[in-house]
Amino acid sequence: MMHSYLDQAKLWLRKSVRQNSAVQGEATMETLRRFRGIALVVLFINCFYIAASWHLSADNTAALHARHARAIINTHLLMSLSMLVLGLWAQRLYLRAQRLPGNKHSSSYQAIFLQILICISALAFAVSLAVIEQLVSANTTAFVLICLITGMLSLMRPALALPLFLLTYLVYFNVVALTQHDPDLLLTLRDSGRDVLIMSAVVSVIVWRQYVESTLLRREIARTQQALAAKQIELTFLANHDPLTGLYNRREFFRLAEMELLRTRRDPSPTHIIILDIDHFKVINDNHGHPEGDLVLIKIADVLSSSVRETDVVARLGGEEFIILLPKTARDDAIAVAEKLRQLVKAISHHTRHGVLRISASFGVAGLDSEQVGTIDDLYLAADQALYQAKHRGRDQVSYATPVFVTAPSHFTRRLPPA
Ligand code: GH3
Ligand code: MG
Ligand code: MG
Repeated sequence: MMHSYLDQAKLWLRKSVRQNSAVQGEATMETLRRFRGIALVVLFINCFYIAASWHLSADNTAALHARHARAIINTHLLMSLSMLVLGLWAQRLYLRAQRLPGNKHSSSYQAIFLQILICISALAFAVSLAVIEQLVSANTTAFVLICLITGMLSLMRPALALPLFLLTYLVYFNVVALTQHDPDLLLTLRDSGRDVLIMSAVVSVIVWRQYVESTLLRREIARTQQALAAKQIELTFLANHDPLTGLYNRREFFRLAEMELLRTRRDPSPTHIIILDIDHFKVINDNHGHPEGDLVLIKIADVLSSSVRETDVVARLGGEEFIILLPKTARDDAIAVAEKLRQLVKAISHHTRHGVLRISASFGVAGLDSEQVGTIDDLYLAADQALYQAKHRGRDQVSYATPVFVTAPSHFTRRLPPA
């Protein structure tokens, strides 16, 4: 039982140390970011106290009060100087980290050293004020406030913060006796000082843990969002593309073709499509198996997409049929493209275990001149008829057909053919 508690505590400690190390860099940079503003505010408050103490020391003739005012002025002057130096240093390191792309979470040892130095100067300032205050009263409000604020804002991991607060207490315990000689008051001051530093340490640990948890959660959310965005891109690709060949699928082709035809209504230009169907593909499958057939499909897809213009749209209609949209292409040019593709497909030499495969395809071409208006359905129907003719006339050839129904512009709200 005891062992299991001990093991759990060890596990928790190891996990905490891992988490603390994971956010250390970001926490240090956050402290430096905050400190740039805090340093200015503290500088301003210091100046105010220097002016006020100066005024009081001029008014007050009592030696003790004059000594108190001088000590206050000197301490605030020292603090102002350290705020100026540390503030400028923090600004330099922060800006340097900002300039390093993707390196904002990793802080240098210099930055951690500066963070510790900032806390030490704040706590030393708090102790100094408590000691000086004992010259005229037993007031420790400034000490309490500065310790608590340091615990709240310093964003230090417990391994650094706890020794620092302990050290502060040890120093405070000894130096407060320099100016407070009343044994009862000294006892009270030491007790309350201990409580204040314990409280500040606890606050610092709580704030740190919250910072660690929120930072890790933020990172997790960012990671999830990135993964979701990547998945979204993948899903969009899958929705628009044929998984075997990587070409556009039928649905995306019809969407793009329809958009192109709509565009030609505003900016008239001829548009043609080519449908091609591999000849006797069933025989290839039957003799060499479907996987070999798939390789042939991929090869043909590569030949098609690498042989047309970038503005042309190549898609797999389904099975062993492909379709190509040729924007701004006249009839003769479209037929020439189809003829070129026919020869390229014929030139493919696909090696199998049983020798080299002979591949050919039949092509159907249809389109609109610039002054004609029609839908992709009209073109598809005509190109399909042309393809049928090519097959009928003996395959491995290109055939052309004029769209029969050239529809009026009002007919543009057509349904996509089922995928
Ligand atoms: P034709 O010259 O008249 O076009 O004859 P064909 O054999 O090419 O035409 P048919 O329509 O009879 O056969 C098409 C074949 O394409 C049948 C089908 O198994 C095959 N096929 C369809 N999709 C795929 C695929 O994704 N991979 C493979 N390997 N074969 C496919
Ligand atoms: Mg077919
Ligand atoms: Mg076929």
